Amino acid sequence: MNVAVLSGGVGGARFLRGVVAVIGSDNVSIVGNVADDIEVLGLRVSPDLDSILYTLAGLADEERGWGRAGETWQALETVAQLGGESWFRLGDRDIGLHLVRTELLRSRVPLSEATERLAHALGLGARLLPATDDPLRTFVETPEGTFPFQTWFVARGHRDEVDAVHYAGSPDATAAPGVLEALGAADVILIAPSNPYVSIGPILAVDEIREALERRTVPCVAVSPLIGGRAVKGPADRMLLRIAGGTSPAHVASCYAGLIDALVIDEADVPADAPVRLVVTRTLMTDLEAARRLAAAALDAAGAPA
Ligand code: GDP
Ligand code: CA
Repeated sequence: MNVAVLSGGVGGARFLRGVVAVIGSDNVSIVGNVADDIEVLGLRVSPDLDSILYTLAGLADEERGWGRAGETWQALETVAQLGGESWFRLGDRDIGLHLVRTELLRSRVPLSEATERLAHALGLGARLLPATDDPLRTFVETPEGTFPFQTWFVARGHRDEVDAVHYAGSPDATAAPGVLEALGAADVILIAPSNPYVSIGPILAVDEIREALERRTVPCVAVSPLIGGRAVKGPADRMLLRIAGGTSPAHVASCYAGLIDALVIDEADVPADAPVRLVVTRTLMTDLEAARRLAAAALDAAGAPA
């Protein structure tokens, strides 16, 4: 069975670990968000792809919730001492990966191929595909102005309410090599419990990908990132409240209108009239076993034998 998963960073990566535990990494293709990508200190950083890389390679820092385990921060301390740009946290080990990626991109290797090389070097079995090789960047409109995603998320600590999100570079962006093939070959498509606006939204802003989902002949199941109407971490709940008008399963489902057949929600949420079938289970991924159970529930909701 082939499974394609649309994924953001940390929430997506946790879920992906479960998917891989259920069906094995060889049959998993991941379409990852790149609209969070940023150039810092001359380095090209792809936070969501890297969260997936580190998590699936077993290198992630589970306690901090992002970045690499055993990380040190000497390079960034030096940057700060020298008056360089140090607001975006980059650890020493992490910087090593960004150096390699940046060098590849500079020698005109596309992001998709650079990602494949990094994934291979880290021993990833699953296929990790950036949604697009084209420049695609999220901007958030807030009462304080419009900000590039990382300025809002990291520098401003996502304190501003978001009125709207847009994706610069869409709709010119085309799907990266392998993405449409992976979606076409999938027996099941899953949408990870990632932020619908700033993680999954930019993937769906690539017209070819959205169309592939609209045209699909196989089941597509999303997992809600909210538990009891609250985000486990991050601004998804506040964004849904302000942009979609609420945090119920129906509001979450409305982000994926016409694209999903079922939404997996938590036992803490009320399964009231949503436009799609709701599947209720425990969705907090406290450990690998919980992630595995959630992935199995999502596959089951898609009618796939887990
Ligand atoms: P980011 O790109 O690193 O911000 O990560 P994602 O967009 O992939 O994931 C962020 C979302 O994951 C947040 O909205 C969280 O609510 C959600 N999330 C994190 N852990 C869990 C979990 O254990 N269960 C569920 N259902 N959602 C989770
Ligand atoms: Ca992200």
